[in-house]
Amino acid sequence: MGLYRKLNEYYRVLALTLRSLAHDTCRSRYFIVDAAFEPVYWFVDNVACYIGMIFVVLVTLLTASVVIIWYFYLLPLIRTFNSLWVFGHIIIAHWLLINIVFHYFKAVFTDPGIPPQGTPMEKITSALVCRKCIQPKPPRAHHCSVCNKCFLKMDHHCPWMNNCIGFYNHRYFILFCIFMWLGTLYVCFTTFDLFTYHFFHPATIFDTEKRETNNIFLKFGPAIFFKDLLQSVKTVEQSSAPIFKYRDHPGGWDHSDSYEHLAIIYLFLLCSAVTCALGLLNLWHMWLISHGQTSIEAHINTKEKQKAAKRGMGYNNPYDYDWKQNWKYLLGINHSRSFLCVLLPSGHLPDGDGIRWPRSKKPLYYYDQTIASRSRWTFNMSKLKKLFRC
Ligand SMILES: [Zn+2]
Ligand SMILES: [Zn+2]
Repeated sequence: MGLYRKLNEYYRVLALTLRSLAHDTCRSRYFIVDAAFEPVYWFVDNVACYIGMIFVVLVTLLTASVVIIWYFYLLPLIRTFNSLWVFGHIIIAHWLLINIVFHYFKAVFTDPGIPPQGTPMEKITSALVCRKCIQPKPPRAHHCSVCNKCFLKMDHHCPWMNNCIGFYNHRYFILFCIFMWLGTLYVCFTTFDLFTYHFFHPATIFDTEKRETNNIFLKFGPAIFFKDLLQSVKTVEQSSAPIFKYRDHPGGWDHSDSYEHLAIIYLFLLCSAVTCALGLLNLWHMWLISHGQTSIEAHINTKEKQKAAKRGMGYNNPYDYDWKQNWKYLLGINHSRSFLCVLLPSGHLPDGDGIRWPRSKKPLYYYDQTIASRSRWTFNMSKLKKLFRC
């Protein structure tokens, strides 16, 4: 018992010593969170800007690879169709390509819009001031920690564009996403038959010299995935007339070779992955635009709604005019500009200055019967819980 008491005493002295050494009057929960996130801040400050450049090169190279494969392997196949189809494909593919390239580079190189700079502190009358820039922050402007600047109507910092998405390049960003999605969807539709053919046939079918190869990439196809087809590959390799063991190549044998095999598989897998990922991203951004909010404002508005709901009130986003008007505002469609500015590349500036924003006619807070009864119920429940705890 005496030993236990002594050990316990030593432990308490040691614990007290350690606590007194680590004691800091400024220490708080926020300090610990800040300290834990320090490596993330360092990463954002020092590495994110270089990652952005790498991503821009990556997007350019991947898009260029799809375009090259389209010219080398798909265009010769399309030429075998009737002339109306050829004309249609060439027009659609080039219309998508021009729009993708135009909107991407416009989104990358257009300044999102910086709030007016150089206002002395004593002259700042605005209610909002950026804590990092020590400058007035107009409504809808936010500070980007990657660019270390405030931007007008900031939506988010896009690493794929190495740029912030804000007032002046929001239209280029969303149109690039939509045209890129249409482009990858077009490639997926037009190459589906070719892809299924190549995916279920080995590359060795095209080249008798490579039939004996050990290169696993050239054998990529059924040989890896299906045992029964593996058997037929072996038969083909021993056969003197291999191509008759398989169904005809969709574009005819004249238009096929072993490089096309890998190119078509790569093209379809890349485009289908982009179609799925970009499709979800587009849905999210289109929903945001339809509700007149940016990605940052979506979080702010959700919190405001929750706060209002606690008081039994509803909350309206002050910049949500109505879905049609929100889209017209973003795309710059007005009495002098038609929908043609969306279908064709257009470098027009957005309406307004990005500093002053008209407010929606709907009230900011309003009484809502359903929300009020729900909040009363929550309030009563919390009262009951407190009673039971007592
Ligand atoms: Zn700022
Ligand atoms: Zn940024």
